[in-house]
Parts: sequence; C-alpha cells; structure tokens
Amino acid sequence: MRVLISDPIAKEAIEILKSSGLEPVEQTGLAPEELIKVIPEYDGIIVRSATKVTKEVIEAGKSLKVIGRAGVGLDNVDRAAAKERNIKVVNTPAATSISVAELALGMMFSAARRIPQATVSTKAGKWEKKKFKGFELFGKTLGIIGVGRIGTELAKRATAMGMKVLAYDPYIKTHEQAQIVDFDTLLKESDYISLHIPRTDETAHILNKAAYDKMKDGVVIINCARGGVVDEDALYDAVKAGKVRIAAMDVYESEPAKEHKLFSLEEVIVTPHIGAQTAEGQLRAGVQIAELVRDALKEA
Ligand code: NAD
Repeated sequence: MRVLISDPIAKEAIEILKSSGLEPVEQTGLAPEELIKVIPEYDGIIVRSATKVTKEVIEAGKSLKVIGRAGVGLDNVDRAAAKERNIKVVNTPAATSISVAELALGMMFSAARRIPQATVSTKAGKWEKKKFKGFELFGKTLGIIGVGRIGTELAKRATAMGMKVLAYDPYIKTHEQAQIVDFDTLLKESDYISLHIPRTDETAHILNKAAYDKMKDGVVIINCARGGVVDEDALYDAVKAGKVRIAAMDVYESEPAKEHKLFSLEEVIVTPHIGAQTAEGQLRAGVQIAELVRDALKEA
C-alpha cells in the first residue's frame, strides 16, 4: 500500500513505513490541484500543517483509508468529510508537549531577566546594568490556564524551580503539581500567567480587559497556546499602562504575524509560532504518526 508524504517528516518515520512493507512516497509542496490529481493512487497520506486535506482532496482519494497529521491541531483536515467516507484521521497530540512547555518556561526566564531586551541593548553598545535588574522565579506564583498535557509539563518544571503553581481548568478537579483554583483567584494571585488551552467559543478572549483589571500590577502574560485566547488590543493597553510588565507571545490572532501593534512595545517578547519546533518534538511526531498510519493500514 502507498502512503503519500506531502509535508517534510523525519527520515526515521519513512523507515518505519518501509520496514512495514508500505511504500512511502515523498512529494512535498504540491499545489492543491496537483494533490487532487495524485491522491487517487494512495491508501494513506501524512501531512504536517502546510498541506490542506480538503473535502475535494478526500473525495478524490478513492483508495484513501487513513489521514495522518504529524502534530496537534487538525485545522487543516476536513474531519467531517473524512468521517463521511469512513477514512480514519490520526494525529500526535502529545509528541510536542515538552517542547511547548519548555518554550513557555523559556519565556518565563526571558521575562524575569529581560534577556531579549538586554541582548538588544548590549549589542547596541549600551551597558545598562541598572536597567536590567531582574527577578527570580523562585518563590513566585505561576497561574496556568488549562492544565492538560502542556500545562502539566509546565507545572512539573515550575514546581521543581520552587514556584507555587495554581491552575484554572473547569474540566480538571485535582492535579498532582498544581492547586486547582477558580478563574478570579488565579488572576488575582499569579505573578506569571501562562495559557495552555485550546481555542474554543468558551476560551476566545479569556484574557480580556476585565481579566487584566483583576490581575496583580506587574504580572507577566505568556501565550504559547493559540491566537485569539488573548484579546490582543486589551493586552496592548495593559502593557502600555504597566499593568502587564512583560507579555510573551508565540501565537497570534492572525498568522503569519509579520506586523503587529504589540511589536512596537519593548516589553513584549515574541516568537513566530515555534512552540513545537524542536528536533526532538518533530522526530517524536514523525515516528508516532508513521506508527499510527501503519497500524491503521494494517487494520484496513
Ligand atoms: P490538552 O487538551 O491536553 O489541554 C488543554 C486543557 O485546557 C485541558 O485540560 C482542558 O480541560 C482545558 N480547557 C478547556 N477549556 C478550558 C477553559 N474554558 N478554561 C480553562 N481550561 C480549559 O491540550 P495541550 O496539548 O496541552 O495543548 C494546549 C494548547 O497548546 C492547544 O491550544 C494547542 O493548540 C496549543 N499548542 C501550541 C503549540 C505552539 O506551537 N505554540 C504547539 C502545540 C500545541
């Protein structure tokens, strides 16, 4: 059986498919119409985030039995169309949890010591020792909004650093590393707030003006989850007013975010949606998706 690899994945993943007697074919960067043309020849397809597995692709895939997405979100796969045709959809939601948690932790250290701002200043020939007096994370309170896979990995690491960890998650009653609290308590008591929730109707703009007003002065906000869970205009105002000391963002309401109102503020730290972009995370995602696609084709 043939498997189309339409976005780059680890070579170890290709080896897994080959050693299971499958025939993986790497054809990355296909235009939508080219994908529709080639898809009838395949029993499975493996994508990351670039390939859009639309209704048209699924309908053209006459032999398609499985769609594998190496990564978390399934925004680029028309799941309803796949379900209608009885095509299995698999993904690897846990493969990059540690990578994202480590980025959030990196954002916390960056905010505490203002490492990105100090880098810019020092390279510009300034020697601003006084300006860059920072804070320790030890003894501070971290509030995690959404304590699932990534939130839990962050809670473990923050606990190990001597932080007090609170979490707001209406779907979780108890947690080993975090004290579950209500939303307002988390806002009022946290020195650092890190979001690790999916974007849903319930979580859209969960951090809005009313939420910032309840926070401690000088709070640090970290969003390595999804654009849209933070009201970016309200965040801009809160940073400008000094309510939020540092905002660190990996994700944005509109991506790619090549220009953004928040970019003009020195106290905003930004990265281009790189939470899952680590060698280990991508290797894990590739290997796991190859195994899942192999198993689904064996069952078919
Ligand atoms: P998860 O499903 O394991 O955890 C999400 C948690 O959020 C769950 O415990 C759930 O109960 C909780 N939750 C749902 N609605 C909530 C609400 N209204 N209020 C508070 N909590 C709520 O997901 P995960 O794997 O930990 O991923 C978390 C987020 O990180 C997702 O949005 C995911 O898309 C994002 N993510 C970002 C990157 C990146 O590159 N920056 C990479 C991977 C994942």
